[in-house]
Amino acid sequence: MLTEAIAVTQDLHAWETGGAENAEALSAWVGARLAEHEAALARLLTVAGPRTVENTLRLYDAAIEQLSLAGAQAGILNSVAADKAVRDQAQLEAQRVAMAGSALSLNRPVYEALAAVDIADASSATRHFVERTLLGYRLAGVDKDQATRDHLHSLHEKATRLALEFSRNIQEGGKTIEAAPSELAGLPPDYLARHPAKNNETTGEEQVILTTDQPDMQPVMTFAANAGLRERMFLAYNTRAYPANKQILLDLLATRQEIATVLGFRSWADLATADQMMGSAANVREFLARLEQASREGARREHEQVLAFARQRQPDLTSIDIASRGYWYEQFRRAEFDFDSQSVRPYFPYDNVEAGVLDTAARLFKVEFRRSTAQAWHPAVSVYEVFDEGRHAGRFYLDMHPREGKDKWFSAAPVTTGVRGRYLPEAALICNFAGGEADDPGLMQYSDVVTFFHEFGHLMHAILGGNTEWAGVSGFATEGDFIEVPSQMLEEFFRDEKLLQAFARHYQTGEILPAEVFRKMKGAGAFGRADWIRSQLYYTTLSLDLHDQNPAAIDLDRITRQFYEFFQPWNWLEGNRMYASFGHLTGYSSNYYTYAFDKVIALDFFAQFDPADLLGCEAGARYRKTVLEQGGSKPGREMVRDFLGRDEDFAAFSRWLNEEFESSLPAPA
Ligand SMILES: [Zn+2]
Repeated sequence: MLTEAIAVTQDLHAWETGGAENAEALSAWVGARLAEHEAALARLLTVAGPRTVENTLRLYDAAIEQLSLAGAQAGILNSVAADKAVRDQAQLEAQRVAMAGSALSLNRPVYEALAAVDIADASSATRHFVERTLLGYRLAGVDKDQATRDHLHSLHEKATRLALEFSRNIQEGGKTIEAAPSELAGLPPDYLARHPAKNNETTGEEQVILTTDQPDMQPVMTFAANAGLRERMFLAYNTRAYPANKQILLDLLATRQEIATVLGFRSWADLATADQMMGSAANVREFLARLEQASREGARREHEQVLAFARQRQPDLTSIDIASRGYWYEQFRRAEFDFDSQSVRPYFPYDNVEAGVLDTAARLFKVEFRRSTAQAWHPAVSVYEVFDEGRHAGRFYLDMHPREGKDKWFSAAPVTTGVRGRYLPEAALICNFAGGEADDPGLMQYSDVVTFFHEFGHLMHAILGGNTEWAGVSGFATEGDFIEVPSQMLEEFFRDEKLLQAFARHYQTGEILPAEVFRKMKGAGAFGRADWIRSQLYYTTLSLDLHDQNPAAIDLDRITRQFYEFFQPWNWLEGNRMYASFGHLTGYSSNYYTYAFDKVIALDFFAQFDPADLLGCEAGARYRKTVLEQGGSKPGREMVRDFLGRDEDFAAFSRWLNEEFESSLPAPA
């Protein structure tokens, strides 16, 4: 039988053959994957007789399994390799894999072979895989003439190169700012301890150097009392890839629009939504209009309250700008909810949080995690094996703290795509949380802990969804606009008291997070949600609009400011170039709406769990089975209906949005 004739790759990890330290070794490893990819396609094209699932689809899946393996690990090493030469090579390799993907998407003989496969009696997952693959081919332009396909291929090449450059400029564009020690007033003691003042060599004056990395930047924006310091940090952070990325972004938008035009679409946004749950840019706009309306009044009240409060403290203040929003929010929460977000940080030392997130997920999804000695790309990475009722079900890698040259963001990424009986699913978290050094307990802000839950939700999706028959439907292979459901669903577990108390312990005294503090934190956390939704609307509308108009007419500075001012009441800050470091424009392109859309679904999902027994109730097992384990075996729409028994609605979202105001009402009789 053919299945047995498809070899299982032995060198499953680029770093096991030296690819994390040596550019040539990495290139050789990727080259071997691409050779296997080509060989599988060549065999597919020589099959004689009627096309079947076994003689054609099996080989097609083996070909894409090699592509995803190579693409995933080139992508990871581009983000994390210690040596710049290896990162540069990884970027080239990622480009090479993307080009192989583009060539495959325009390969008409392969398309025709797949279209000829008889799937009448196949499983629903197999039929869905084939139908979705054929749709992808048509959207890629496989039915165009050869000259047009060649043109599309060169446009893909250009777009891929520009997107990779854009990301790398953000990754490597970290800046530093200098501060006088007196400017650090308001920052927590452990932060000050990590940033001792040094004498400036030329002026002789004492100064502190701060970077734009998250663990340096975020506390300044939240706690620093000095408005000048906050402004300098904000501008440094939001110009870290400026001006380099301005022209790159304009070129990328123009290239994407040209691809859409060649394919007969009005805009890139229409093309990029055609195979999503949303279906069209018009549907996205309709959804966004609904969110805009739902959040308008709440956000107005939130702004009014924070501004009135700030003016009590500082009577000459007439407005609050974007660099001071986080600071005044924090001050307001302290006064109004008696909640100081610094007061919880000692209860969230990194190691406890890691143990707590893992324990939560293990109990919720009924799996077991064991520390592993498997090799990773860097000694700082910890590795875990996943067991499901005793069966080895996957592996994950946690690369959780900043390192020189490492990507600065928080993400989950596949390492190997799981295929039942062939490959165990493996995935990684690449994050930049505080900690990681012997003398640093890594005290986390509560927003960091939420981020950890979020990324772990992605990780579990990759692992539990990685036991499918086909690589093409494994793990993250859902519609792109369903992908933020499992992550945002897991975020909600952070708001459960019992669950937090299991791991939130003071790093010095071991004291459990007091119930009173938890309640205050929860109340304070509920404040500002409508405003947060509107900041999401700002990013979302910007991402959509940049891809839904003639790119030659785009003035990035004007359009960014225009949307900002429409959605946000906080003053714009001159010199803000956030578009140049808006990394989601590469991966999500026009589809940043995914977060807001999936938030509505995730909150509806979470509402199905019994609040009295979040981890033990039947919804957990049902969610695992009907959603996570499916990977991309069925449309997102069906998964929603399978879990909820209906389509998602706005009820849970509206309750969540208005919780802050409802909590102050008298309790119903
Ligand atoms: Zn996410």
